[in-house]
Amino acid sequence: MASNTVNSRRRPADDESNDGTDESALETARRQLNRVADGLDIDPNIVERLRHPSHVHRVAVPLKRDDGSIEVFTGYRAQHDSVRGPYKGGIRYHPGVTEEECIGLSMWMTWKCAVMDIPFGGAKGGLVVDPKRLSETEHERLTRRFAQELRDTVGPKRDIPAPDMGTDSRTMAWFMDAYSMQEGETEPGVVTGKPPVIGGSYGREEAPGRSVALVTREACAHYDLGLDGTTIAIQGFGSVGANAARLLDEWGATIVSISDVNGAVYDPDGIDTVDVPSHDEKPEAVTQYADDRISNEELLTLDVDVLIPAAVGNVLTEANADDVQAELVVEGANGPTTSSADSVFSERGIPVIPDILANAGGVTVSYFEWLQDINRRQWSLERVHDELESEMLDAWCNVRREVEERNVSWRDGAYSVALSRIGEAHRIRGLWP
Ligand code: NAD
Repeated sequence: MASNTVNSRRRPADDESNDGTDESALETARRQLNRVADGLDIDPNIVERLRHPSHVHRVAVPLKRDDGSIEVFTGYRAQHDSVRGPYKGGIRYHPGVTEEECIGLSMWMTWKCAVMDIPFGGAKGGLVVDPKRLSETEHERLTRRFAQELRDTVGPKRDIPAPDMGTDSRTMAWFMDAYSMQEGETEPGVVTGKPPVIGGSYGREEAPGRSVALVTREACAHYDLGLDGTTIAIQGFGSVGANAARLLDEWGATIVSISDVNGAVYDPDGIDTVDVPSHDEKPEAVTQYADDRISNEELLTLDVDVLIPAAVGNVLTEANADDVQAELVVEGANGPTTSSADSVFSERGIPVIPDILANAGGVTVSYFEWLQDINRRQWSLERVHDELESEMLDAWCNVRREVEERNVSWRDGAYSVALSRIGEAHRIRGLWP
């Protein structure tokens, strides 16, 4: 499950602010939209439309606590744009959830689906609640009631939630069950990220890490770094980091450093990534792997070929960007590079492959899950892997073309591909003002 820096004012996938910490997700998303739109031939009226969400739903969700008392929680579902297909995006349970954050993150989902050419729009929602304060039965009751409150808002052809911070496959199973009960028929396609036994997709959990590995492989080839012998440091050995590390290791790269929240380990000869349990499998296993421990900050400035921040947001900042020695940065986490650091990397000629492309394997396999659900047919793991690779390579080639033809950064190239597709769909359909 995704875990970000928990801050309602943190940026989503990109950052136009000073150092990304004093600008809301919505302000950042709008600023990024304006910046990329300036360089494209796109109707300003469409850009103005994209500055606003289509709908923002706010609901009150009562919960009967285990002690018999009633507590009422606030929930949101922001739906940004559906010109290319149903809204799609996570549902998070966190005390810092705000309406503005949901809107900003829903915009980011619109771009992410468009860069991958997935026929979905962007949404994001959440409940203002600390999930650690909920017992399992409270979590279930709250989820079922939240699903009921959103019943007219979501649906397999309308808006399809997924897990996010504080929610997981079990939450999605309860959500899907509650929705199906009210509809009177089993509707697995109302959410993605479910367990495979009720319509979830094989390979969904490892998909973001797999896409990070695939994009790293392509980026290394693009910059003439053969994977064999390429040294890589990966911050965060959770779902994204561990899956990416193990694949790159298997493909011949040398993973010299990995970390978790407790610290990092460094082995210039290469770490046996299969031997180290991921954070989910065994928290704190990373720092027990070797004696040669370093800090998470030191990992970021190691003399390696590739740096993959795959833990939390805003770790590459103005303060450390000058010290980064990697030749290439691939964003595994959402928003690990602040705009100031982006500028430093650009001046220093260090390419940064953006999160919106690199970790998009998650939403791509969510799309596969939805296809499986509406067709009532489960794909094999092998098919999921093959189709994911093909989608990632297509997206990579489209962004690379933009980068080469327009001489822009990889981040701007990815946003341009996304915005061009969305703008064209709005132009053809019309705004109906
Ligand atoms: P995870 O919880 O499985 O793993 C996170 C890892 O980062 C763990 O090893 C943890 O110990 C480490 N970590 C936590 N705080 C840290 C800190 N302050 N410094 C260094 N390490 C720290 O999370 P994940 O699902 O792998 O997500 C990682 C990032 O990738 C997040 O930014 C998330 O939003 C993004 N992401 C996840 C998915 C997904 O579906 N899992 C999809 C796209 C993007």
